[in-house]
Amino acid sequence: MDPSLPTSQALAARAARHIPGSTSRSTLHTPPLAPYALRGRGHLLEDVDGNELIDLHANYSSLVHGHAFPPVLAATAGALAEGSCFGLPTVAEIELAEHLASRLPALPRWRFTSSGTEAVMAALRVARAHTRRNLVIRFAASYHGTSDALLQPHAPGVPPAAQADVLTLPLADPHALRAALASRGDELAAILLDLMPNRPGLRPLDPDFAALARSLASEHAALLILDEVITFRLSTAGLHALYGIQPDLITLGKIIGGGLPCGALAGTPEAMAALEPSAPPQRAVHLAGTFAANPLTMRAGLAALRALDAPAIARIDALGERLRAGLLDLGFQVTGRGSLLKLHHPRLPQLWWRLYRQGLLVAADGLCSISTVMDDTLIEDILERFARARTA
Ligand code: PMP
Repeated sequence: MDPSLPTSQALAARAARHIPGSTSRSTLHTPPLAPYALRGRGHLLEDVDGNELIDLHANYSSLVHGHAFPPVLAATAGALAEGSCFGLPTVAEIELAEHLASRLPALPRWRFTSSGTEAVMAALRVARAHTRRNLVIRFAASYHGTSDALLQPHAPGVPPAAQADVLTLPLADPHALRAALASRGDELAAILLDLMPNRPGLRPLDPDFAALARSLASEHAALLILDEVITFRLSTAGLHALYGIQPDLITLGKIIGGGLPCGALAGTPEAMAALEPSAPPQRAVHLAGTFAANPLTMRAGLAALRALDAPAIARIDALGERLRAGLLDLGFQVTGRGSLLKLHHPRLPQLWWRLYRQGLLVAADGLCSISTVMDDTLIEDILERFARARTA
């Protein structure tokens, strides 16, 4: 530990004077304080207190290649010096759209945003303009970012009017979905679905329910929006490809920015027509963002995605399955699929600190992910640390 550096405790006290909660992200709350990061390299993160941690958090799974991934560094090297953003589009945006469209041939139209939140907000706007209807169905506890409309019902600070056209149904309940559509199907603009939502437990949804959502959306001339901000990493085309269902719109974020702020929405030409300049004025959707599609994010994202091909995905999925099996053997409760895992524990905040003291960083809500810089030996090391944290 470098004695010239302030400790996390000192930084938290300093932050508390100006930053409510000591960090801008409510999701990083780990009472009594959030340790402060110093730097990261590969699968390792160093905090300001001199601890070295194996990073299973990976900024909520967005760093699929770990920290300071050399291809991302190479792709962005010098880019800052050439200008980080412009009031004109750049070729980097086209290249990322071309790459993503080659992975998702049924969704050839792309727009980029600066966060997953904005991508989902834009998808709702596009769906509503396309259908000229307002009702959106979402599912309880599924997280879609921090927009007023999609925070949980009655969230403090959100006026009821902001959620008036959002119907929250119990997750994976076919009867509730059928009943809602029987009474309000002709108002429906879109069903918004995450096939493996993190907050309700990171359990893959029943494929029959996903197929039902798909067919009911079509039956009612509404759109199916799949939120794959977390799950896109599970195949070259995302989790929906493994389910064999096709959305009208998809929202992405996290890994597609290579570690820089990002979001994207994509869709069929019909669904995305509202974003074409030729759209009739009453349907033309406004979507912009000063930093959307900035060349740094686009270059970093393309480098990250190029390195995440099918063999790389198969490898991290296998490591994830190995870790999940090992954790279950140790008596931990763990869910997820492939390289995404979630720990369940009645006293998660306490477990979080016990893991931290063993040199393991997981998300405060128990989300863990595998990155391509990990290997079998590291998984064994991680399991040994979990075993020690269990008894600590
Ligand atoms: N959708 C899902 C499924 C998410 O997990 C998240 C973020 N965790 C978002 C949307 C919002 O993304 P962002 O934090 O980039 O705004």
